[in-house]
Amino acid sequence: MKKTPRNFLRTMGISTFLLALTTTVVSAETDPGWGSQSPNINVPFNNYNDTWRSPMDAAAVAWNGTPTKVTVGFLSSSPNKVLADSYQDTWYGLSSSANPGPFTIKLNSRTINRDASNFYNFVKSTLVHEYGHIFCLDHTTKTSIMNSNRDRNTMTTPQKFDIDEVNSVYK
Ligand SMILES: [Zn+2]
Repeated sequence: MKKTPRNFLRTMGISTFLLALTTTVVSAETDPGWGSQSPNINVPFNNYNDTWRSPMDAAAVAWNGTPTKVTVGFLSSSPNKVLADSYQDTWYGLSSSANPGPFTIKLNSRTINRDASNFYNFVKSTLVHEYGHIFCLDHTTKTSIMNSNRDRNTMTTPQKFDIDEVNSVYK
């Protein structure tokens, strides 16, 4: 899920829609203005307990293993944040814009603990998705880590669609 300061775009009406039709090229399922302008991001070293740290680190590794330009590195001086805490909201994960950044990703331990049957996979899937937003990916209904209805207990890595979309942003 993303915070929505850009939702005003949806109210700009038919002229914007027609403009989009004539300017083409940008995929409807990427949002280049939201994410990092660089394919290489960093986050601080993870100090959570092993139960959380292991799937969170694996989410970074999942992106680093894709045939794309994107990487998630660990840097003690990184201004970005990846937080796991209990939030009263309904979401599992939330990211703020990385443009201009710094960005913050939040993982909701309350909803994840409540709904996960495979905790490791669920955390990894949620964070791979949030990194997807940082890499300019938007929600989709396709077979994708960005599909909000995916099974988070089983889908834990960027899918072919996601790799193609990322490669359309960071050429
Ligand atoms: Zn999302």
